[in-house]
Amino acid sequence: MARSRRNPRRTQSGHGKAGPSKWQRFSGSSGGDISRALDPAPRIERDELGEWYVRYVPASGARKPYTCPGCGRGIPVGTAHYVVWKNDHLFGDQRAIEDRRHWHARCWEIR
Ligand SMILES: [Zn+2]
Repeated sequence: MARSRRNPRRTQSGHGKAGPSKWQRFSGSSGGDISRALDPAPRIERDELGEWYVRYVPASGARKPYTCPGCGRGIPVGTAHYVVWKNDHLFGDQRAIEDRRHWHARCWEIR
């Protein structure tokens, strides 16, 4: 079957978008990684204790085991989870990041 030929759009302004983008594929990682670190920036959530930065860690980014403060259980390597730290920490942002906690995604959501 012949492909109906669309008008090829020529980009005239000089955005040199030439080369094929390199896809970095994770070799050997199977399973659904939902958002492949599409959103590296943490989002901010508020509750009665203040503001929290919440950052999603995809399974491919979880390279160490952690303990979830929500349930007290471990978060195995290769498990997608959240990293959470306080926005308005008494001792400043640096300290807040040092005090960050790793939560099961579910534990954070239902806490
Ligand atoms: Zn947990």
